[in-house]
Amino acid sequence: MELRGLNLFLFLFINRVFLSLQSKEQVLLDMRASGSELGWLTSPYENGWEIVQTVVNGTLFYTYSVCSIETTEQDNWLRTTFIQRRPGTSRVSVELSFVVRDCNTFGGASVACKETFNLFISEADADVGTNFRKGQFRKVATIAPDEVTQGRVLKVNTETKTVGPLSKKGFYLGFQDVGACVALLSVRVYYKTCPSTVQSLAVFPETVADALREVEGACIENAVSQATPRIYCTAEGKWVVPMVQCQCLAGYEATGDSCQACKPGYFKPSVSNDLCQVCPDNTKPSASGASECLCEEGFFRAPSDPPTSACSAPPSAPRDLTSMTLPGEGKLQLFWSPPLVTGGRSDLMYSVVCKLCDEASCIPCGEKIRFEPGPTNLQDPTVVVSDLDSHLNYTFTVEAQSGVSQFSAERPTATITTALDYTDPPKVTEIHLADRSPTSLSLSWTPTRRPPAHINHRYELMYRRKDDSTEGDVTTYKVLILDKSFVQIDGLLPATTYTFRVHALGPEGNPGSYSADHEFITSPLAAPQFGNKPTMVMVAVFGVAVILLVVVAGLLLRKRRLNARRRGGPEDPYFSSDQHKPLKMYIDPHTYEDPNIAIHKFVTEIDPSVIGKQKVIGVGEFGEVFRGVMKIPGRGEVPVAIKTLKPGYSEKQRQDFLSEATIMGQFSHPNIIHLEGVITKFKHAMIVTEYMENGALDTHLKGRDGEIPPYQLVGMLRGIAAGMKYLSDMNYVHRDLAARNVLVNGNLECKVSDFGLSRVLEDDAEGTYTTRGGKIPIRWTAPEAIAYRKFTSASDVWSFGIVMWEVMAFGERPYWDMSNHEVMKAINENFRLPAPMDCPSTIYQLMLQCWLHERLKRPRFLDIVNFLDKLLKSPESLKTIADFDPRVSIRLPSTSGGDGTMFRSVAEWLESIKMSQYKESFARAGITTMEQVLALRHEDIRNIGVRLPGHMKRIAYSILGLKDETSSLSVFAV
Ligand code: AMP
Repeated sequence: MELRGLNLFLFLFINRVFLSLQSKEQVLLDMRASGSELGWLTSPYENGWEIVQTVVNGTLFYTYSVCSIETTEQDNWLRTTFIQRRPGTSRVSVELSFVVRDCNTFGGASVACKETFNLFISEADADVGTNFRKGQFRKVATIAPDEVTQGRVLKVNTETKTVGPLSKKGFYLGFQDVGACVALLSVRVYYKTCPSTVQSLAVFPETVADALREVEGACIENAVSQATPRIYCTAEGKWVVPMVQCQCLAGYEATGDSCQACKPGYFKPSVSNDLCQVCPDNTKPSASGASECLCEEGFFRAPSDPPTSACSAPPSAPRDLTSMTLPGEGKLQLFWSPPLVTGGRSDLMYSVVCKLCDEASCIPCGEKIRFEPGPTNLQDPTVVVSDLDSHLNYTFTVEAQSGVSQFSAERPTATITTALDYTDPPKVTEIHLADRSPTSLSLSWTPTRRPPAHINHRYELMYRRKDDSTEGDVTTYKVLILDKSFVQIDGLLPATTYTFRVHALGPEGNPGSYSADHEFITSPLAAPQFGNKPTMVMVAVFGVAVILLVVVAGLLLRKRRLNARRRGGPEDPYFSSDQHKPLKMYIDPHTYEDPNIAIHKFVTEIDPSVIGKQKVIGVGEFGEVFRGVMKIPGRGEVPVAIKTLKPGYSEKQRQDFLSEATIMGQFSHPNIIHLEGVITKFKHAMIVTEYMENGALDTHLKGRDGEIPPYQLVGMLRGIAAGMKYLSDMNYVHRDLAARNVLVNGNLECKVSDFGLSRVLEDDAEGTYTTRGGKIPIRWTAPEAIAYRKFTSASDVWSFGIVMWEVMAFGERPYWDMSNHEVMKAINENFRLPAPMDCPSTIYQLMLQCWLHERLKRPRFLDIVNFLDKLLKSPESLKTIADFDPRVSIRLPSTSGGDGTMFRSVAEWLESIKMSQYKESFARAGITTMEQVLALRHEDIRNIGVRLPGHMKRIAYSILGLKDETSSLSVFAV
């Protein structure tokens, strides 16, 4: 209010100062301007006032004069004609011009001479004509000159008198002469007005200015005001203090004193003092006088959008809709990217709909599932969906919405069909007793969630007698791996309480958390009948057997714990993430006193009659390896590999040979070679495994450079990593992971093999004696394992890095022809293998991580599998190729000796790259100078007789390297 008051005050003040306009005179009588005989009445008719004609500058003027000074008692009247009063005027001004002669100029002759005359007025409602009566006049003023005229020069006086108040329709003026010598040159009768005016978009009429008067006006055309515009007209005919709030209508703007329609292409949305604005974006051009600009086709305004806002398009569909299973039961998170077209709006929101669809139709997911923060009005491009069922496929549709979505017929959406994808197996909470007998218990359980249709969980059930003796801190359990969620356990003691616990195993054997311990009791035996010896004997034998088993298992478990420690087991921080999990542990066959017991604990004995050898496919340390078939009831003949033990073996060799089966038999994983069984009871012991059509990985890859795309190679590496993760989860350290010990089947699936206990010592030609006496495959082995035999899963990770390199380099020998000594030296000096040709950068980075000197910083197999999975899910991540420097392939830091100078002869060059076998072929082809070598192309090298792809590559790279003399070895250093 105060502000408005102040504004008004300023407004009034400014207007008072600047808006005072000139008054206007409305003339009722102008003696001079009439230019003709005026017809004024004189009285007395002959002796008083008389009319005089004067010509000034060619114009005829009439004036009245009188000069009756000789006698006293003069009373000469001059009366004007009837002057109409204008309605509204109550006062008029009378302006007189006159000359009065100085009485002294007449000398003593005129005693009666006067120097003034009188002005009279008489009001009348009608012209009374010549009916002149002095008594009807009232005196207005005595008119005295300022200067009297003495000589020839006339002194003209001007005097203005205001006459009023007037009320009748008109009036007469009378000039009474009482003995003066006067000439009345001009009489002007007029009144003043404030002229009609436009002030601040309000129009005010012409107003008679006879006193300070408030005048009402009106807004001009196309303008409006809440209050009536007002102004004051002063008695002087001046406008002051306007009070106006007129504003132009919508579609009009103030231009000077008028409101003009907005030009085409412009608009003004409301009554205001604003100017017209250009039409906003995405609108049609407006016509003249527009109060808004309509939206272009396909663009809209939300109901809450002001007309000044640009029109906007509805959003397009959200992009890149993906889902991720969250930890905990039944939860997944959906993510998406904002739509490409947001329509330039900031009120973008999303809504999500869930449906369950089959080929024919979809139904809503129902009330059960929950959305966090909600299914609609989502501000962020993500939502968490919970209470989902793990075995169902859900179809989620996400729509982006804005304030203008409602106007668009099309509603673009993004859709994803997804299911919960658990890496962890479900929990088992309850175990139920289904049936029991004196010697058996039938149990069942339900996992917390059902597996998706394509996955079948397995379960590990552990049980023991409740009152079983424990040895030290070791509790012995029997362990069963089951495909179903129910089991009947036979061979139990009557009326005995057993403790059970179950956990599910994931697709890769990864264990879920254990159920609580459940106790169930077998039913008691029916009362033994006297003399029923066989039953008593059976029970006694059975009891002894169980006690024996428990004792043996107890011993074994204790040894296993010790062994686990030796192998860098759970107390090793490298395994810390799994520390809390009761892992299914690998049991070292050495912990068994009798290896024959160990083997039959884990391995099936095969009847030799079901095995048929076909062809030798390889030679191992202990004998030939055959391809063959095995007849399995219900499965027909399946191809198998049969490892044989050559004749003349010692018992120690036989046990070492079979130990591989004892180890392999404990594993069950799609990326670990599967053991079918063993033949031990036959003269020639045999180990029967699944047959891997493509043999060893290194030989399979050699010569296939470029044939297998990187994506497939990474898929193979993923398989090996998954197998190794399984082994490390079992606490098994392989120690000899290398491409030669990975087998490839017909589907190019890779499986880790070679588990013999003596394998590193005896079997592997790569094994080299270290200073500490052990035999170690130097090129594949981590520095800490070489230096102080610290073999752990982290050293297996180093070896996996080398396998990655072997695979990406298509079976190339790691570190080429460097000696083991040179390799160790280079590694200790922090050099690492360079990226193989065409190797994706992400893969090479992973290799370098596997080769970190500090073993605890290397990734775990779990990390490696996850990382490779991620790469395989987004193949574009394999597109960037790691820097490849052909020179480092040839001139390794410790072998090159090369300083960039040219070789003196072709032979010297071939020798330097360990390709001297081609000396003669080069000579035969006439290539005798290095200049000729530098000019060789691929085909030339092949024509010379170099056929092996690896040799071909080596020679070609060397030539490339020679061409660039400023070679550097930076790629090799880390
Ligand atoms: P090993 O004694 O395990 O190193 O086997 C010697 C060679 O026999 C390997 O290099 C393979 O070429 C071949 N071999 C071994 N096991 C299999 C198998 N399961 N399938 C196919 N070939 C095999």
